[in-house]
Amino acid sequence: MSIRRLPPELINRIAAGEVVERPASALKELVENSLDAGATQVSVRLAAGGLELIEVADDGCGMTSDEMRLALERHATSKLPSDAIDQVTSFGFRGEALPSIASVSRVTLESRVRGADGWRIAIDHGDDAGEGPAALPPGTRIRVEGLFDKVPARRKFLRTPRSEYAACLDAVKRLAMARSDVGFTLDHDGRRILTLQPSEAPARVAALLAHELDRHGVGIDCARDGLRLTGVISLPTFNRGLADQQYLFVNSRPVKDRLLGGAMRAAYRDLIARDRHPIAALFLEVPLDEVDVNVHPAKTEVRFRDPSAVRGLIVGGLRRALDEESQRSAAREQSAAPVMWTSSATYDAQLNRHLREGGGSASAQDSGIPAFAGMTMLADEQRLFDQAPAARAEPAVEQVHGYPLGVARGQVNATYIVAEAEDGLVIVDQHAAHERLVLERMRAAREGGQVARQALLLPEVVELEEPDCDRLEGAVADLAELGLEIERFGPGSILVRAVPAALGKTDIPGLVADLAAEIAELGGALSLRDKLDLVAATIACHGSVRAGRVLSVAEMNALLREMEVTPRSGQCNHGRPTWVKLAHGDLEKLFWRK
Ligand code: ADP
Ligand code: MG
Repeated sequence: MSIRRLPPELINRIAAGEVVERPASALKELVENSLDAGATQVSVRLAAGGLELIEVADDGCGMTSDEMRLALERHATSKLPSDAIDQVTSFGFRGEALPSIASVSRVTLESRVRGADGWRIAIDHGDDAGEGPAALPPGTRIRVEGLFDKVPARRKFLRTPRSEYAACLDAVKRLAMARSDVGFTLDHDGRRILTLQPSEAPARVAALLAHELDRHGVGIDCARDGLRLTGVISLPTFNRGLADQQYLFVNSRPVKDRLLGGAMRAAYRDLIARDRHPIAALFLEVPLDEVDVNVHPAKTEVRFRDPSAVRGLIVGGLRRALDEESQRSAAREQSAAPVMWTSSATYDAQLNRHLREGGGSASAQDSGIPAFAGMTMLADEQRLFDQAPAARAEPAVEQVHGYPLGVARGQVNATYIVAEAEDGLVIVDQHAAHERLVLERMRAAREGGQVARQALLLPEVVELEEPDCDRLEGAVADLAELGLEIERFGPGSILVRAVPAALGKTDIPGLVADLAAEIAELGGALSLRDKLDLVAATIACHGSVRAGRVLSVAEMNALLREMEVTPRSGQCNHGRPTWVKLAHGDLEKLFWRK
């Protein structure tokens, strides 16, 4: 076996396999070069998803003809003047992209520095294909044609132009978000797809991800231990079926890091259903020595020196922003309430008339049937009662007045509470609502000290896989803080001694198994507070009134009253609404009265 040095041509092809997997990765390298060259405007043209043509033109610093020749050589870069690879602030630094791309396609590189003439160099699959003067404005224009045409092994892995185009679009979007100060255009098969003027980051993100982020987004700006996080995330209610719109930028570099997905899930855990995903663009600034960008040929991954600090900042920062936002919106609802709730005496008027007509004591609540269904008020009559004497008989029926969620009138399908509010009909999903109340109760209890626990008369033994038991054993102290007392009981079982009092009767083996799964998924990187919050949500779900349980009127009213004073009670732990209201106007429309 004889060892030989590989010819440069082959080395470049091997590198191309790592740097340019597909058109989108070549495009990414070219746009990054434009940004590194100080461009203020980058214009991209693609044909057939980049398989036929990728062209990137910029107004950056340009290159002289000597520099152009050098740029096409392997490991030639202008970006590491001092060999300090741990202090890189440019997108590029490896000097591999241009020679790699030129080895697997036909490349025409044209460039012009200010105050000089332009030059053109053509390369055909690594071979010189001529050079000469070129006419172009200052800057650089590079055309890449027939990428991988002569590399069947690679060609096989390419997908349809359509999906290659989607990947190209994503690559441009990422870089356009990273550098909102630069203008971009993107054309595909002769059609203008994007026109982006230089702007501020939030406007750029909204333009690229979803205009709705204006209204349904929450701004992020927090810092800790020398790390700073800014950006925008969507409200839990504004979500998607795919986690495909979550972007992380580290020191302006778009990166794909698994850490982001996990941190997002943790931050939204009890606010959004498991199969729904928020939108996010997060910009992380970290000191250069805290992050290694040289871990991946395409530079799309980074390695943090302290990943749990980053994760903690993301989870904590997002969580706080979401909490503050939900408090703000709750306050908005509250302050709107007096206008909504004090304007009408309709209910009293109805009640008085009912009593006058001999309806007797209103037993509507007990029967669960609306007492005044089908009654209408004449305008005159109403005015009459609006001026009713100050002293009047206290009605036996609970007043709807002053209760935003109204008074329970009945239950439908043992699942929904129907309540009458002053301004309409309220329908509450009893399980969703109760789950949220239990969670908030547990949170409040935890913040105020110990959570009340209920010792089991007979401790329950739960059988689990050994790793699950190990995980639970590691969380004994955390769980105790939530009122769940457990103990290791042999290799494959856990003994449960007490459960949070808020739970009531519950399926203990199911709860313990869910918790084990939860802890496995969260891993060790979360702060204690965040972890407890998430575990509390799982416990709350187990301890809540199920759909299908018949409730007494008193129970229903108690639930409504508690909802009115509990933060975030308008959303269940999975981000769905807990109640809806049909305003009188809506009802009138349903019956064509309006
Ligand atoms: P890297 O970006 O890692 O340095 P590349 O192969 O992408 O490696 O580019 C090699 C060199 O070519 C760069 O360092 C830069 O000096 C020059 N270059 C490439 N593209 C441009 C451009 N659009 N404008 C100006 N200079 C460029
Ligand atoms: Mg580069």
